[in-house]
Amino acid sequence: GSSSVLPPETRRLEGKVALITGGASGIGASTARLFFKNGAKVVIADLQDEMGQSLCKELNPECTTFVHCDVTKETDVENAVNCAVSTYGKLDIMYNNAGIIGVKKTSILDNTQDDFEQVIKVNMLGPFLGTKHAARVMIPARKGCIINTASICSVIGGALSHGYTSAKHGVYGLVKNTAVELGKYGIRVNCVSPYVVPTPAAWDIFEPDANGVPPTIYSNLKGKNVVPEDIADAALFLASDDSKYVSGHNLLVDGGYTAL
Ligand code: NAD
Repeated sequence: GSSSVLPPETRRLEGKVALITGGASGIGASTARLFFKNGAKVVIADLQDEMGQSLCKELNPECTTFVHCDVTKETDVENAVNCAVSTYGKLDIMYNNAGIIGVKKTSILDNTQDDFEQVIKVNMLGPFLGTKHAARVMIPARKGCIINTASICSVIGGALSHGYTSAKHGVYGLVKNTAVELGKYGIRVNCVSPYVVPTPAAWDIFEPDANGVPPTIYSNLKGKNVVPEDIADAALFLASDDSKYVSGHNLLVDGGYTAL
């Protein structure tokens, strides 16, 4: 089952402590499972307390902890980082993954300041606060790894709302900016950019097909639909020493969609 860890020689995050925002659902939950399986202690920070707590219970209550956190509130993010340090002694991996899609794609004439601001707050201010407070504890440790979930909308324009595209381009900008600043402390900063993945967030926007998956007409990879675990695999690469010289990078996991 998902609560068992791999044999020691194959665990790629043995002894590491990871904090995952938006870890109660979708991509974050898949990543929490994979990081745990690979020997990490995992702190799940999310708005959805029940889902986060039951995931911790399902994995291993001693090696996983839930903390309530709204990534748009600096005191919550500060508290989540402090929770990782006080519970497990340090923070090695910060995964700023929480995000919302906002309104469906619409004309800019119909979009609202409210939607734009809300999406920017969760999807861009969230990673800023997460990076800031992770750096606060990683700089003294002289090591660390910061990952963000961006999107194909970090490099293309039209798929979703104005706020979403702006925020995800912004996340990649933040990654480059902070990778430059934090490299001298041995801290790497990267983002992973998924194509449309079947998660609750995507269901709000994309009509699933008869098989319950998002539209595959755009996919460039025949016979393969992207699943949350594909994004978790990319996050594991960025979190592990396998990527020890990778920083400032945007790892697209899109089956070649943005290459078309
Ligand atoms: P999801 O809705 O399954 O999970 C998102 C999680 O973030 C939820 O548990 C939610 O409670 C949490 N969250 C939302 N606002 C929050 C806040 N203010 N503070 C703390 N937690 C908050 O969606 P997902 O698809 O797994 O999304 C994860 C990330 O992946 C997001 O950044 C999203 O933009 C990105 N992404 C998703 C897709 C996709 O198609 N699903 C594609 C590209 C990028």
